[in-house]
Amino acid sequence: MSLSEKPLEKTTARLTALFADRTQRMKASEIRELLKLLDQPDIISFAGGIPDPAYFPREAFAEAMSKALSEQAASVALQYSTSEGYTPLRDWIVGYMARHGVTCTRDNILITAGSQQALDYLGKIFLDQGDTALVTWPTYMGALGAFNAYEPRYDRIDPQTNRPVEDVLADAKAAGGAVKFAYLSTDFANPTGVTLTEEQRRMVLARADALGCAVIEDAAYQELRYRGEEIKPILALEIEEKSDIDACRTIYLGSFSKTLAPGLRVGWAVAAKPVISQLVLTKQAADLQTATINQIAVSEVAHGVFDAHVATLREVYGARLQAMLAALERHMPEGIAWTKPDGGMFVWVTLPRDMDGAELLKEALKANVAFVPGGAFYADGSNTNTLRLNFSMSAASKIEEGIARLGQVIRDQM
Ligand code: PMP
Repeated sequence: MSLSEKPLEKTTARLTALFADRTQRMKASEIRELLKLLDQPDIISFAGGIPDPAYFPREAFAEAMSKALSEQAASVALQYSTSEGYTPLRDWIVGYMARHGVTCTRDNILITAGSQQALDYLGKIFLDQGDTALVTWPTYMGALGAFNAYEPRYDRIDPQTNRPVEDVLADAKAAGGAVKFAYLSTDFANPTGVTLTEEQRRMVLARADALGCAVIEDAAYQELRYRGEEIKPILALEIEEKSDIDACRTIYLGSFSKTLAPGLRVGWAVAAKPVISQLVLTKQAADLQTATINQIAVSEVAHGVFDAHVATLREVYGARLQAMLAALERHMPEGIAWTKPDGGMFVWVTLPRDMDGAELLKEALKANVAFVPGGAFYADGSNTNTLRLNFSMSAASKIEEGIARLGQVIRDQM
């Protein structure tokens, strides 16, 4: 230890003791740690949750960025801009939402730095300490991470949940708060790949009506459908009922991360104007605006190649999903169950009751195959006999080999 280290340690200890209570609930994400594994050449990783960079619309972005940086355009692209977001992009989103049954105006839309930022802002807006957030069991762990900072308690909103509404409300009150929102990933959910049926969406809406809470509809994977018919967003169903978005309790979150590129950090929220106004105030206080040039580039590329590009992704990822489902069928031993998604990036595996996903990962890594253990996707850390497999990052031959390895590791543990 050098002489200079000791005082520094002391200072750090003093500083960490000053951190707010809420930091106790901010935990390192298992996913982040695991992403480091992607760099090791021999590992077949089903751990990531990211798009295949080979299919980024690189040339379209190069052209858009170059245009945005031309002498005429740069004074806008490199300048501050409004918190609400770049108008042509919001107008493109108005058209996009209309195609999905959501009638709204530009004023119902806020551009965010990815939908992750919207999750943080919604936590900030809705959650006092001890309030109740309803989530599915399991749910997107990044949503738990965003909400945790606002110190809520969690209760369930699974489509199959039929606990009396009065009991849910009474529990929330006893915990010292109120039920503020239900958060759901509606299409090809992260982590399960499961999609809510229209009937389930209507049930969620009816339940939120009865509970008097908001619905946060996370549609990050909506475009990545490889088979079957689109199911209308919850917000679209609610607008059908109430005929006016400004009377709706659903807040829809969209993202360009899975369709175009996550590195630009561009997503959006669609909601009743009072909710958008509060989100705009929150954004003004937090980061002023989403990067102007990124919004301009995304707008250009969306106006240009969105549909054609998404069609390519559907073809590529759809084939990979088929490869994964076929490989699971071939290599998984008796007693292992998995979901059969119609889209997205993930398949969810349920192991025998006494097998732990995190323990299994240690063995799997020795066999050079990786996944995300399922426990972290549960608000109470339960159901550790689960795991999430990503298929968007691997070619079909790798998927076959990786699932064969995983099947052997599981067989060895049984
Ligand atoms: N919601 C879900 C369900 C996700 O899987 C992700 C990304 N993994 C996000 C939101 C956040 O995406 P982004 O901030 O890049 O839009």
